[in-house]
Amino acid sequence: MNETKYVYLDYAATTPMDPRVIEVMNEHFRESYGNSSSLHSIGQKAAQTLVKSREIVASLINAKRDDIYFTSSGTEADNIAIMGVALKNQKRGNHIITSTLEHHAVENTCKQLKKRDFEITFLPVDKNGLINLEELEDMITKSTILISIMFANNEIGTIEPIKEIGEIARKHDVIFHTDAVQAFGKIPINVDEMNIDLLSASAHKLYGPKGVGMLYIRNKGIREGWGKYIEPIMFGGGHERDMRPSTVNVPGIAGFAKAVELTKEEMPKEIERQTKLRDKIIEFVLNNVDDTYLNGHRTQRLPNNVNLGIRFIEGESIVLDLDSEHIAASTGSACSSKSLDPSHVLLAIGIKPQDAHGSLRVSVGRFTTEEDVNYFLKKLPPVVDRLRKMSPLKKT
Ligand code: PLP
Repeated sequence: MNETKYVYLDYAATTPMDPRVIEVMNEHFRESYGNSSSLHSIGQKAAQTLVKSREIVASLINAKRDDIYFTSSGTEADNIAIMGVALKNQKRGNHIITSTLEHHAVENTCKQLKKRDFEITFLPVDKNGLINLEELEDMITKSTILISIMFANNEIGTIEPIKEIGEIARKHDVIFHTDAVQAFGKIPINVDEMNIDLLSASAHKLYGPKGVGMLYIRNKGIREGWGKYIEPIMFGGGHERDMRPSTVNVPGIAGFAKAVELTKEEMPKEIERQTKLRDKIIEFVLNNVDDTYLNGHRTQRLPNNVNLGIRFIEGESIVLDLDSEHIAASTGSACSSKSLDPSHVLLAIGIKPQDAHGSLRVSVGRFTTEEDVNYFLKKLPPVVDRLRKMSPLKKT
């Protein structure tokens, strides 16, 4: 790469760690290495870090400190939420409602439950990726125990009407989980105002470490009329009040808390700045590159997400060509981009399979500059031209 700068535009896949987070984690690796369950002072120092970190993470979503349970990832938080509610409430009902554009962490957990005699309804979405609230309400039956709908989509950035979904769940006395892995730290979330019972998040999407996540569980898993509404799916030594046993990753959690602290300070200014960069990319590409369109809602979308449909070429080829120009972008969600199947999210919003292959996700973040965006916008049109000249997928 010599002295050429690499332009990273894949913040939705993961973020680079903020140096200020690394500093905090290093300090904890060196000095706060004790087991937070140990009685001696080194262990107790780690336990205090854990309490403080829980408070900081809770404050970002207006939650109570003790309603935060640290996990090893967003995926684990999703699994605990969905499996934990399903297994605890089998006698009450076996019906779960989710959407057709969930991340695989939710989708595949629901599919596992289907094999165990749970009934799963995959709520369709419109062409912008939004669920229909009336349709959601109509799908609720006497045996519905859980609604799990993502806060914001990882591929197309569409933000769902979470407060309204929460109101419907409350009205029908159903538990409401939201996978907020993409939204947490990017847009304001208030679990009380939005009637959220369970919420998953992950540190590596907000400049924190990989392998650290959290599950918010309203009122420690007790709900009026339900009593205890969630149970653990892993068993061990009682850590995280039995919800997630295993020696606690205190340095990682301290890093997560630092990342949240920074995000809280920077969110208003970053929303404005990233939205401008996002819109600049959208406007430029739609006006200057033929046969392109935007996937996802034009305004009700994450401030950092652009997902472009670029007809007659393969997204993978664009990503590889951009890489040779020192630009990192993505074809879809990082986890599914190795698969040859078209993205289930793009199919869910009605994109034809041949067009779904030609998608490009560009996601900006804290370290993206205007210069980075200009460089990308200079390089993209010739890349598209070159690939189209070679493409067997010609215009008809
Ligand atoms: N849910 C969503 C919406 C995501 O975007 C991701 C990661 O890409 C996950 C869940 C999984 O999170 P983790 O990588 O922490 O397991």
